[in-house]
Amino acid sequence: MTTPAKSIGVWNYLAEYERDRAEILAAVDRVFSSGRLILGESVRGFEEEFAAYHGVDHCVGVDNGTNAIKLALQAVGVRPGDEVITVSNTAAPTAVAIDEIGAVPVFADVCEDTYLMDIDTVEDLITPRTKCVLPVHLYGQCVDVPRLREVTGSLPVVEDCAQAHGATGRGGRAGAMGEAAAFSFYPTKVLGAYGDGGAVTTPDGETARTLRRLRYYGMEERYYVEETPGHNSRLDEVQAEILRLKLGRLDEDIRARRRIAERYHEGLRDTSLTLPAVGAGNEHVYYLFVARHPQRDHLLKLLSDQGIQLNISYPWPIHTMRGFGKLGYRAGDLPVTERLAGEIFSLPMYATLTREDQDRTIAAVRDALALIV
Ligand SMILES: *Cc1c(COP(=O)(O)O)cnc(C)c1O
Repeated sequence: MTTPAKSIGVWNYLAEYERDRAEILAAVDRVFSSGRLILGESVRGFEEEFAAYHGVDHCVGVDNGTNAIKLALQAVGVRPGDEVITVSNTAAPTAVAIDEIGAVPVFADVCEDTYLMDIDTVEDLITPRTKCVLPVHLYGQCVDVPRLREVTGSLPVVEDCAQAHGATGRGGRAGAMGEAAAFSFYPTKVLGAYGDGGAVTTPDGETARTLRRLRYYGMEERYYVEETPGHNSRLDEVQAEILRLKLGRLDEDIRARRRIAERYHEGLRDTSLTLPAVGAGNEHVYYLFVARHPQRDHLLKLLSDQGIQLNISYPWPIHTMRGFGKLGYRAGDLPVTERLAGEIFSLPMYATLTREDQDRTIAAVRDALALIV
């Protein structure tokens, strides 16, 4: 009897932890030994280093990416009842954050090739209630923010950078193009913590000051609430210290992701899959390597039988979800978004993914495709 090959998933941090264990535990120990567990030197140090990486003046560490979006919107002046233009093929938290502050998400359709916001459809979505535009740099490549601004004029841009650490586009680096930019350090992200974390970057000192208040109950002076609604949304010292370590390796990790993407392209380009397209002027960081096939569900079932568990990011467009039924969208309103949701799937992608697992994935996908065409 042959032993079944070990299964492969889209993401796994254990190889990284094995490699970096001593450094990570030393980072944890530095925090625990410092005598200060909340908003200390580690958060301050990380904020400085993360801002410098982006060439922006300010970074405010927060507790997760959803709250980073929420605080960023609030800081640029979005209030209950205001409309925020974004997309529906993103992680649900993009829209959850808008909803949580009482604002209303308005969804643009996306481009068939890059899966990014279709800027040509945005002008028709602008109303007197539109207060902000929230482009999502989906899967690791940037929306063309300069072109977006040609359409949206003086509306503030808040970037959702949760999937695009280190990516660059025509407008520069993700996180350095908007009035504010929100990051998540959820463990799977290109820069991932060992738990939850997030940050907002901004070029504006007053916006940064507001963000610092908003993450600290609305207080500037201790015990005195300056502004409501305030939040408790602080980045944890332990995660900040681990993130400092991992920020030092970010560019190297991105190069590893690009090498894996190149191998997938080489190994699968002559198949019936549609492989990711990179938009003009973009340097993709491959948070996810998303391919498409009209018989996606059959393909994923065949791969799962071979021990390869692939993922769909994301199976349901947000405008079709029950929780957002109050927005009044109907099936068919965003045709490209809806069609893509039925065809997309992600191949395994993380910096420590072995060549052997890359090769096994490519071979298994080719075998499965041979069975369905
Ligand atoms: C992960 C993600 C978020 C939410 O981040 P959390 O840290 O999980 O709250 C928001 N937007 C996008 C595009 C994401 O991928």
